[in-house]
Amino acid sequence: MTLFPTVLLTGALPDASRAHLERHGIVLVDAHEHPDVEVVTAGATPVRGARGTVVLTGAHPSPEVTALLAAHGVTVQDAGPGRVTLGRPVPLPSAAVDLDLLAWTSSPVLDVPATLVLDGEGVSAVARVLRDTDAEGATGPVVVALCDATAEGTGPVVVVSADLDEGPAAVEMLLDAVHAAAADRPLTAEPAAAAHASDLVQHPAWLRLRADVGALRALQVKDGSIPDTDAHPEARRLAAAIAGAVSTLVPFVPHDEDYLAAVTKDLARWVDDGFGVPDFLDSLVLFHPERLRVDGLRHLVLFPMYTQNGSTDRRFEAVLLEVRWPEIVAHLEATRFSNRMFVPVRFLDFTAGYDTNSAVLFPETVAVREVPVFTWGAIFADREAARFRRVVRAAAETTRLALPPDAARLLDDQRLAEETFVLWDLVHDRTHMRGDLPFDPFMIKQRMPYFLYSLEELRCDLTAFRHAVALERDGVPHARYVQYAVLFDRIFRFPVTGTRVRNYDGLGGQLLFAWLHQHHVLDWTDSRLTVDWPRVPDAVIALGEQIEQLYWRSIDRPKTAHWLAAYDLVSATLTPHPASVWAGGKAALPVDGLPKDLTDAMLPDEFPLSMFYEALARKIGDVVASTSGITA
Ligand SMILES: [Zn+2]
Repeated sequence: MTLFPTVLLTGALPDASRAHLERHGIVLVDAHEHPDVEVVTAGATPVRGARGTVVLTGAHPSPEVTALLAAHGVTVQDAGPGRVTLGRPVPLPSAAVDLDLLAWTSSPVLDVPATLVLDGEGVSAVARVLRDTDAEGATGPVVVALCDATAEGTGPVVVVSADLDEGPAAVEMLLDAVHAAAADRPLTAEPAAAAHASDLVQHPAWLRLRADVGALRALQVKDGSIPDTDAHPEARRLAAAIAGAVSTLVPFVPHDEDYLAAVTKDLARWVDDGFGVPDFLDSLVLFHPERLRVDGLRHLVLFPMYTQNGSTDRRFEAVLLEVRWPEIVAHLEATRFSNRMFVPVRFLDFTAGYDTNSAVLFPETVAVREVPVFTWGAIFADREAARFRRVVRAAAETTRLALPPDAARLLDDQRLAEETFVLWDLVHDRTHMRGDLPFDPFMIKQRMPYFLYSLEELRCDLTAFRHAVALERDGVPHARYVQYAVLFDRIFRFPVTGTRVRNYDGLGGQLLFAWLHQHHVLDWTDSRLTVDWPRVPDAVIALGEQIEQLYWRSIDRPKTAHWLAAYDLVSATLTPHPASVWAGGKAALPVDGLPKDLTDAMLPDEFPLSMFYEALARKIGDVVASTSGITA
């Protein structure tokens, strides 16, 4: 099963159309290669070798095409020659959420040789002739129709009676039609490695190890020590059992042998020293997942550590994970986006500190006597992808957003979403160290007003987005999915996740939404969210440029002046809390004191949720909460 649909072409397509399909990952195949979709060009005879079908029809289709369409309740009518503007049908206020097959076109003007008469159960209008006399909506004859998959096993059929031979709108419509016709193809299988990982996940030594670490955690206090001497005999027994289980599991992860040998030594020293604050520096410096980035390579990790967005206590955690290193990411990392520290991973199994919202494994979180040089950072793409899919699905349904057909696939397919997040993270992660930065990127954790973190995280995401727009032009098939992921995760999940206390990621999402809304790229009208997709890339990139301009100017500014300018950038789009001191500007703020005084003057929720987000949070809050500990 390929990640992207395979297509059998019946008849010829213009070069531009073929190239556009291929740039987005569509693979053109022969009839015997089990295509997902057959594209029947105007005048051609269908082969009927695929489940899904796209029919491009002129005024006089062949008898075979006429019969195929008749079976779905579609009749073709000669429209006479004419160029018309197409529009989406006006949705009924109560209508369910549909796919948007015109997503990447804005009122396309096309030659329409025929129109469609629909008379069947599972067939609906996707595009109509937009009549001048009816500016409120498109109510003219149907030009594009979607026939649902049938119980008899016929896949979706998309019928297009417009000439898709040339122009940007035509190639986008064809791509969306192919994705819509491929909608019910099977989901992509998990990577092969995951299937045979069960030997390790089910291994008695692992199951015992996981249980013993759980029991040991219960004896530890916040700093990882065990002050209660009555518990020491039990702790000693557990530590010995854990060391034994680790040794048993080493043959499954031979590349981790040195590290795991050091883990058992650190563990023994902790026991001998009387269960004080643990120190796993010696083993930490021997763990190097960044040196062997091979898709499916497994690691056994055992450290006393806290987990970011998870457990704030430094207790033991045991994690089985495997590296995710898709070919496309290996290629892009080697050629364009070098990032030697970046290790994308997925969970195989874990202890309680990861049964949370934590989606990273960072060496910074391990208990050590002194801070070493960090050479890697691991991000769990499976968790990112799974919670993205669940939350965005709920948000799209709640806001009745009609999804582009490929975006709908992204929400269905865990593997596609994982690879998308790996590519996004690759670029995001390295961006923290790149660009015209007014601050030392390694000092970013300094105490400062939280909206500065919002801007830095947003800058990295919008940079990833900007690169994705360029990569899409270059034919990287994941690139458009990265754009969907950045946009949807940012505007739907971030603002409604976490508390309202210095929620810097939430604030970045609020800013992106409000920016797009105020530029009318995104509208909330008639209780339905709509997105003007062709204008999205420029609008998103423009916000990224604002932040880059701020950074560049601030290289020449004192720190507090940078903070004030950054506040102006955010508050130009987002409304501060009415009680805000910062909103009063220089006159109201303690600008003659220490920077710390300015930070203290910031309200915990300086930019409260808008009414749109308050409603959204109420409606999908349970779904967001349900993603704690999720992996697929
Ligand atoms: Zn970041």
